[in-house]
Amino acid sequence: MNLDLHIHTEYSIDSQISLKSLVSECKKKKITPGICDHGNSRAHEVLHKMKVQFIPGIEIYTQQGHLIAYYTNDPVPNHLSFAEALDKIQEQGAIACAPHPFDTKTYPFIKKKFRKSIGTEDETTMKKCDLIEVFNSRADKKANQRASEFSKKHKISATAGSDAHFPFEIGAAFIQTAEDFDIEDPKQFIKTIKSKNSNIYGKQTTFFVHGTTSVFRKIRKWFGGKPLM
Ligand SMILES: [Zn+2]
Ligand SMILES: [Zn+2]
Repeated sequence: MNLDLHIHTEYSIDSQISLKSLVSECKKKKITPGICDHGNSRAHEVLHKMKVQFIPGIEIYTQQGHLIAYYTNDPVPNHLSFAEALDKIQEQGAIACAPHPFDTKTYPFIKKKFRKSIGTEDETTMKKCDLIEVFNSRADKKANQRASEFSKKHKISATAGSDAHFPFEIGAAFIQTAEDFDIEDPKQFIKTIKSKNSNIYGKQTTFFVHGTTSVFRKIRKWFGGKPLM
Protein backbone atom coordinates (compact mmCIF):
# COMPACT_ATOMS: atom_id res chain seq x y z
CA MET A 1 0.00 0.00 0.00
CA ASN A 2 1.10 3.57 -0.67
CA LEU A 3 0.08 5.79 2.24
CA ASP A 4 0.13 9.58 1.81
CA LEU A 5 -0.45 10.35 5.46
CA HIS A 6 -1.03 14.09 5.29
CA ILE A 7 -3.81 15.36 3.03
CA HIS A 8 -6.25 18.24 3.56
CA THR A 9 -9.73 18.28 2.00
CA GLU A 10 -12.26 21.03 1.39
CA TYR A 11 -13.29 20.60 5.03
CA SER A 12 -9.98 22.30 5.94
CA ILE A 13 -10.32 26.04 5.58
CA ASP A 14 -7.25 26.33 3.32
CA SER A 15 -7.66 23.30 1.04
CA GLN A 16 -9.19 23.14 -2.41
CA ILE A 17 -9.54 19.34 -2.59
CA SER A 18 -13.13 18.15 -2.95
CA LEU A 19 -13.86 14.63 -1.75
CA LYS A 20 -14.71 13.69 -5.33
CA SER A 21 -11.30 14.81 -6.61
CA LEU A 22 -9.60 13.16 -3.61
CA VAL A 23 -11.16 9.84 -4.53
CA SER A 24 -10.27 10.09 -8.22
CA GLU A 25 -6.65 11.25 -7.62
CA CYS A 26 -6.05 8.50 -5.07
CA LYS A 27 -7.47 5.89 -7.41
CA LYS A 28 -5.35 7.17 -10.31
CA LYS A 29 -2.14 7.29 -8.23
CA LYS A 30 -2.88 4.16 -6.15
CA ILE A 31 -2.68 6.13 -2.92
CA THR A 32 -4.41 5.38 0.37
CA PRO A 33 -4.98 8.80 1.93
CA GLY A 34 -4.44 9.98 5.50
CA ILE A 35 -7.10 12.68 5.93
CA CYS A 36 -5.74 15.33 8.31
CA ASP A 37 -7.97 18.38 8.08
CA HIS A 38 -7.26 21.30 10.38
CA GLY A 39 -9.19 21.01 13.63
CA ASN A 40 -12.10 18.89 12.42
CA SER A 41 -13.00 15.43 11.20
CA ARG A 42 -16.13 16.22 9.19
CA ALA A 43 -14.63 14.73 6.01
CA HIS A 44 -14.21 11.38 7.79
CA GLU A 45 -17.97 10.99 8.29
CA VAL A 46 -18.69 11.69 4.63
CA LEU A 47 -15.89 9.41 3.42
CA HIS A 48 -17.21 6.59 5.59
CA LYS A 49 -20.62 7.00 3.95
CA MET A 50 -18.91 6.95 0.54
CA LYS A 51 -17.15 3.71 1.61
CA VAL A 52 -13.72 5.20 0.91
CA GLN A 53 -10.70 3.59 2.61
CA PHE A 54 -8.60 6.16 4.47
CA ILE A 55 -6.49 6.70 7.59
CA PRO A 56 -8.37 9.09 9.93
CA GLY A 57 -6.25 11.98 11.16
CA ILE A 58 -6.64 15.53 12.36
CA GLU A 59 -4.06 18.34 12.37
CA ILE A 60 -4.19 20.39 15.54
CA TYR A 61 -2.74 23.86 16.17
CA THR A 62 -0.76 23.94 19.40
CA GLN A 63 1.16 26.81 20.95
CA GLN A 64 4.42 25.23 19.74
CA GLY A 65 3.39 24.19 16.24
CA HIS A 66 1.22 21.68 14.43
CA LEU A 67 0.49 18.18 15.73
CA ILE A 68 -1.27 15.34 13.90
CA ALA A 69 -3.40 12.82 15.75
CA TYR A 70 -4.37 9.59 13.98
CA TYR A 71 -7.32 7.47 15.11
CA THR A 72 -8.76 9.78 17.77
CA ASN A 73 -12.13 9.05 19.34
CA ASP A 74 -12.38 12.22 21.41
CA PRO A 75 -11.66 15.64 19.92
CA VAL A 76 -8.46 17.44 20.94
CA PRO A 77 -8.90 21.23 21.03
CA ASN A 78 -6.64 23.68 19.22
CA HIS A 79 -4.37 26.14 21.03
CA LEU A 80 -3.28 23.92 23.93
CA SER A 81 0.42 23.57 24.62
CA PHE A 82 2.03 20.85 22.47
CA ALA A 83 2.62 18.73 25.62
CA GLU A 84 -1.03 18.99 26.74
CA ALA A 85 -2.36 18.11 23.28
CA LEU A 86 0.08 15.19 23.08
CA ASP A 87 -1.21 13.84 26.43
CA LYS A 88 -4.82 14.11 25.27
CA ILE A 89 -3.98 12.10 22.15
CA GLN A 90 -1.96 9.40 23.83
CA GLU A 91 -4.22 8.92 26.86
CA GLN A 92 -7.09 7.94 24.53
CA GLY A 93 -4.87 5.41 22.72
CA ALA A 94 -4.60 7.48 19.56
CA ILE A 95 -1.31 8.07 17.68
CA ALA A 96 0.61 11.36 17.75
CA CYS A 97 2.80 12.50 14.87
CA ALA A 98 4.94 15.65 14.66
CA PRO A 99 4.36 17.00 11.12
CA HIS A 100 7.02 19.17 9.41
CA PRO A 101 8.67 19.54 12.85
CA PHE A 102 11.58 21.76 11.79
CA ASP A 103 9.79 23.79 9.13
CA THR A 104 9.40 27.33 10.34
CA LYS A 105 8.45 28.67 6.91
CA THR A 106 11.10 31.31 6.71
CA TYR A 107 10.69 32.43 3.13
CA PRO A 108 13.52 34.07 1.22
CA PHE A 109 13.16 37.85 0.59
CA ILE A 110 11.00 38.31 3.71
CA LYS A 111 13.23 36.40 6.16
CA LYS A 112 10.41 36.20 8.66
CA LYS A 113 9.15 33.14 10.48
CA PHE A 114 5.54 32.40 9.55
CA ARG A 115 4.96 29.70 12.09
CA LYS A 116 6.39 27.79 14.99
CA SER A 117 7.36 24.13 14.79
CA ILE A 118 7.92 21.81 17.72
CA GLY A 119 11.42 20.76 16.62
CA THR A 120 12.76 24.27 17.00
CA GLU A 121 10.73 24.97 20.14
CA ASP A 122 11.00 21.92 22.40
CA GLU A 123 12.86 18.77 21.36
CA THR A 124 12.23 17.07 24.72
CA THR A 125 8.46 17.10 24.21
CA MET A 126 8.86 16.16 20.55
CA LYS A 127 10.68 12.99 21.58
CA LYS A 128 7.43 11.76 23.18
CA CYS A 129 5.62 11.64 19.82
CA ASP A 130 4.82 8.19 18.43
CA LEU A 131 5.81 9.22 14.90
CA ILE A 132 7.81 11.92 13.13
CA GLU A 133 6.96 13.15 9.64
CA VAL A 134 10.38 13.06 7.98
CA PHE A 135 9.20 14.02 4.52
CA ASN A 136 6.61 16.73 4.02
CA SER A 137 6.40 17.87 0.39
CA ARG A 138 5.77 21.47 1.40
CA ALA A 139 8.63 21.69 3.91
CA ASP A 140 12.07 22.74 2.73
CA LYS A 141 14.81 20.21 2.17
CA LYS A 142 16.81 21.17 5.24
CA ALA A 143 13.77 20.90 7.52
CA ASN A 144 13.02 17.40 6.20
CA GLN A 145 16.66 16.39 6.65
CA ARG A 146 16.61 17.54 10.27
CA ALA A 147 13.38 15.62 10.88
CA SER A 148 14.92 12.50 9.38
CA GLU A 149 18.05 12.83 11.55
CA PHE A 150 15.90 13.35 14.64
CA SER A 151 13.83 10.26 13.88
CA LYS A 152 16.97 8.13 13.46
CA LYS A 153 18.75 9.53 16.50
CA HIS A 154 15.80 9.01 18.85
CA LYS A 155 14.51 5.85 17.14
CA ILE A 156 11.06 7.30 16.46
CA SER A 157 9.36 5.81 13.43
CA ALA A 158 9.12 7.95 10.33
CA THR A 159 6.11 8.94 8.23
CA ALA A 160 5.62 10.97 5.06
CA GLY A 161 2.91 13.07 3.52
CA SER A 162 2.32 15.53 0.74
CA ASP A 163 0.44 18.04 2.97
CA ALA A 164 -1.70 18.40 -0.17
CA HIS A 165 -4.10 21.32 -0.42
CA PHE A 166 -4.60 20.89 -4.20
CA PRO A 167 -5.51 17.63 -5.97
CA PHE A 168 -2.30 17.47 -8.02
CA GLU A 169 -0.19 17.46 -4.83
CA ILE A 170 -1.75 14.19 -3.61
CA GLY A 171 0.85 11.43 -3.53
CA ALA A 172 3.87 13.78 -3.72
CA ALA A 173 5.12 11.90 -0.65
CA PHE A 174 4.08 8.51 0.69
CA ILE A 175 5.10 5.43 2.63
CA GLN A 176 5.07 2.22 0.68
CA THR A 177 4.28 -0.69 2.95
CA ALA A 178 5.43 -4.20 2.09
CA GLU A 179 2.07 -5.70 2.99
CA ASP A 180 -1.55 -4.65 3.11
CA PHE A 181 -3.11 -4.23 6.55
CA ASP A 182 -6.47 -3.40 8.11
CA ILE A 183 -6.40 0.39 8.03
CA GLU A 184 -9.25 0.64 10.51
CA ASP A 185 -7.03 -0.90 13.17
CA PRO A 186 -4.59 1.60 14.79
CA LYS A 187 -2.44 -1.24 16.15
CA GLN A 188 -1.90 -2.68 12.68
CA PHE A 189 -1.23 0.83 11.36
CA ILE A 190 1.54 1.55 13.87
CA LYS A 191 3.02 -1.92 13.46
CA THR A 192 3.18 -1.46 9.69
CA ILE A 193 4.72 2.03 9.92
CA LYS A 194 7.35 0.72 12.33
CA SER A 195 8.21 -2.18 10.02
CA LYS A 196 11.65 -1.96 8.46
CA ASN A 197 10.09 -3.12 5.20
CA SER A 198 8.20 0.16 4.70
CA ASN A 199 9.88 2.70 2.42
CA ILE A 200 9.43 6.44 2.09
CA TYR A 201 9.20 8.32 -1.24
CA GLY A 202 8.80 12.03 -1.65
CA LYS A 203 9.20 15.04 -3.85
CA GLN A 204 8.92 18.67 -2.92
CA THR A 205 6.10 20.83 -4.21
CA THR A 206 6.88 24.37 -5.23
CA PHE A 207 6.96 27.74 -3.56
CA PHE A 208 4.27 28.82 -6.05
CA VAL A 209 1.85 26.29 -4.56
CA HIS A 210 2.34 27.69 -1.06
CA GLY A 211 1.87 31.24 -2.31
CA THR A 212 -1.37 30.26 -4.02
CA THR A 213 -2.61 28.56 -0.88
CA SER A 214 -1.95 31.69 1.17
CA VAL A 215 -3.99 33.69 -1.32
CA PHE A 216 -6.88 31.24 -1.11
CA ARG A 217 -6.55 31.20 2.66
CA LYS A 218 -6.86 34.97 2.80
CA ILE A 219 -9.78 35.07 0.38
CA ARG A 220 -11.69 32.45 2.33
CA LYS A 221 -10.96 34.27 5.56
CA TRP A 222 -12.40 37.50 4.17
CA PHE A 223 -15.55 35.64 3.23
CA GLY A 224 -16.28 34.58 6.76
CA GLY A 225 -13.95 31.64 7.40
CA LYS A 226 -12.36 31.06 10.75
CA PRO A 227 -8.98 32.74 11.26
CA LEU A 228 -5.95 30.50 11.12
CA MET A 229 -3.06 30.43 13.55
ZN1 LIG B 1 0.85 21.61 9.32
ZN1 LIG C 1 -1.11 20.04 6.96
